[in-house]
Amino acid sequence: DAELEAETDEELEPRAPIVTVMGHVDHGKTRLLDAIRHADVISGEAGGITQHIGAYQVHHEHDGVTRAITFIDTPGHEAFTAMRARGAQVTDIAILVVAADDGVMPQTIEALNHAQAANVPIVVAVNKVDKEGANPDKIRQQLTEYNLVAEEWGGDTMFVDVSALKGQGIDELLQAVLLTADAGLDLRANPNKDARGVAVEAHLDKGRGAVATVLVNSGTLRVGDAIVAGTAHGRVRAMFDEHDNLVTEATPARPVLVIGLTSVPGAGDSFIVAEDDRTARQIAEKRAAAERAAQLAKRRKRISLEDFNKALEEGKVDTLNLIIKGDVSGAVEALEDALLQIDVGDEVDLRIIHRGVGAVTQNDVNLATVDNAIIIGFNVRPAERVQDMADREGVDMRFYSVIYRALEDVEASLKGMLKPEYEEKQVGAAEIMEIFRSSKFGNIAGCLVRSGAIKRNAKAKVVRGGTVIGEPTIDTLRRFKDDVTEVKDGFECGIGLGKFNDIQVGDIIETFEMVEIPRD
Ligand code: GDP
Repeated sequence: DAELEAETDEELEPRAPIVTVMGHVDHGKTRLLDAIRHADVISGEAGGITQHIGAYQVHHEHDGVTRAITFIDTPGHEAFTAMRARGAQVTDIAILVVAADDGVMPQTIEALNHAQAANVPIVVAVNKVDKEGANPDKIRQQLTEYNLVAEEWGGDTMFVDVSALKGQGIDELLQAVLLTADAGLDLRANPNKDARGVAVEAHLDKGRGAVATVLVNSGTLRVGDAIVAGTAHGRVRAMFDEHDNLVTEATPARPVLVIGLTSVPGAGDSFIVAEDDRTARQIAEKRAAAERAAQLAKRRKRISLEDFNKALEEGKVDTLNLIIKGDVSGAVEALEDALLQIDVGDEVDLRIIHRGVGAVTQNDVNLATVDNAIIIGFNVRPAERVQDMADREGVDMRFYSVIYRALEDVEASLKGMLKPEYEEKQVGAAEIMEIFRSSKFGNIAGCLVRSGAIKRNAKAKVVRGGTVIGEPTIDTLRRFKDDVTEVKDGFECGIGLGKFNDIQVGDIIETFEMVEIPRD
């Protein structure tokens, strides 16, 4: 997230590298994670790390300097890539485990492809060197084919021979991880601000409720902070480290188990600290709604006014069911009378299955769902929850303020002459993760794109706690230091909204385009 961190050198402090262990099944990933746990120079004498919280930190001493390394405790590239799919890249370095008595196998190749796709440097642990028939050189030879050339052979990948079983070579492996981090990675973060990071593991605990292991990317997480992790929210009631010790704060790359969330987040969900409980809940609810909206977009639509005639011609329907809602009874009656006078011919039946005064309700949508009806609203609007429900169920709701426009549309639909209609369609949504003040550009919103794509010059709505607070235009759009025209789902970007400066962390920037409503 370097592009978001408009931070000065003085604010950045070194952090531990975060490591994932990958490799073919049975090559010793789990065993190696165990051996590393026992190699911790700080807790080693005290019996090592006993708690499995999803990630742990060990300390390695070299030339009198003690440094920390963080390990993700879920071995394998599947978890690694599942987290990436959620927009989280929590790994700095991958340890690729290859059994010296077996050699490069299909999942070895898969794992290294995944690491390379994510631009994550690899350290190779040639494992099981204690075994008879072990041939570490063969592993080095095989991996040259995949652009992993050992340093001692003139390449730039560190290979370390280890025995996870006997605990041999572990110190050298940890040293190789630190050397690899120092050689090419700038692992620094600002600990002096509100925390943001990623949930790497979470589950429901009988006694403690939802527990989540989180890794802080930047800032410091403290007991008492209100947080949102994915669509879960809550207040940090207590935090534990991998030794089951209570801790009061977590700095960058320090994994902690967090208690106090009201539900269980997903592995790879990002978390942020919110101003207060209420804001946290609102952000979580908005995220949940966005998730539902994404799901419903995949759903097949029910009959709509646009596709009614086509369905009629194909013999799939013979009745157009309508539900009419209006602000006053006079309007509802007038609309009903006028609709029933439309000459529909013999082959189609127009039925008004329900009429009423007042806003469109969930009951109306339920009825429309059961009877495949279209809802016509005259001078009324649906509640937000009702609109969500209609979208989810694929119910066509149409709103008019002039009776003859409603008549025209219904008639055109019956006769197959409905002109294409344009509607404002949401094409992207981004969440503000942090804000940068720039004297040149005003406030820049450091965002994570949550769905679709954000495009420069697009019309936008800034949503806070379910309410639209402004409708600016995407004025500037940047990735790293470059101006770009588009940023897709899962990527971070910096957004400038021109003169509109009233933004807060947690706000959602939704973007819109006018699109033709499809006929089928
Ligand atoms: P994973 O599937 O990659 O997590 O592999 P495991 O860690 O479960 O190890 C698979 C098997 O290999 C187990 O029976 C381990 O005891 C054994 N094993 C792992 N590392 C070593 C090693 O360094 N030497 C020997 N001889 N056996 C090992």
